[in-house]
Amino acid sequence: MDPKDIVYVNGSFLPRAEARVSVEDRGFVFGDGVYEVLRVINGRAFATRFHNQRLERSLDGVRITLAKGDSPARFVEIGRQLLKDNNLLQGEATLYMQITRGSTTRAHNFPPAGIAPTVYVSVARFKPYSDLAQSGAPAITHPDLRWARCDLKTLNLLPNVLASQTANERGAFEAMLIRDGVVTEGTKTNFFGVVNGSLRTHPSDNHILPGITRSVLRDLARDLSIELDETPIKTSEIPKLTELFLTGTTTDVMPVVKLDDKPVGNGKPGELTRKLQRVLAESLASGGD
Ligand code: PLP
Repeated sequence: MDPKDIVYVNGSFLPRAEARVSVEDRGFVFGDGVYEVLRVINGRAFATRFHNQRLERSLDGVRITLAKGDSPARFVEIGRQLLKDNNLLQGEATLYMQITRGSTTRAHNFPPAGIAPTVYVSVARFKPYSDLAQSGAPAITHPDLRWARCDLKTLNLLPNVLASQTANERGAFEAMLIRDGVVTEGTKTNFFGVVNGSLRTHPSDNHILPGITRSVLRDLARDLSIELDETPIKTSEIPKLTELFLTGTTTDVMPVVKLDDKPVGNGKPGELTRKLQRVLAESLASGGD
């Protein structure tokens, strides 16, 4: 962490240790807010347009209206300033932006008109999971206990937190969530699996987050003439998986080589996984905007 460690809160750039929001902030009291995480390589944020679109969609979905003059693109500009201020223009970093419904006396209904959303933007040094990406990671299955709007990137992450912690306590990298007999996604990742030779993933609906990495990878697969079948993988098909991998902004393509202590395929990262891992790495290296 850079010693300066400057963040942005509600119009001010200041050291993280001095940054404050009210105890009445609705993000604190209700988890009433949304967020985005972007990958930054050598000062260039990756897939900004997609992240901004998703943030707009999350804001609309929870009915938060930004203050006049604010926009996701402006938050990314603030992020660029923070990258400079924190000497993060070289190497790997993440850019975090969070918007809550503002700060007001606790009541479930929306605040009265005139209460501005709280805006928080920060950046941090990031180290990719390079070793695990080579060896492959263990995962577990876990019930998906989330609400029915998982397509919105909200701060309400308690079921994700609990499932992720269970995975961690069992020595696993990720928990693959199961709802109605199908694998939906991970607690912080989407997934792809190979069953009977075809690449499958859960369709983009209200039960998963429409991951930016998921959609970048879908396009890269299409460029390689690899067909993607968006038919969810049933739990009964898990023993037939020959390859499995997770995708995410900070996870890239992460092979899963063990699921619930049983090997996936031959227990090593699969061929298709390796190929997609390579093309995503190339895209990250050349991409950014
Ligand atoms: N699914 C969930 C629940 C997530 O929280 C995330 C990222 O945080 C993802 C999927 C992956 O999305 P992205 O590729 O946009 O990082």
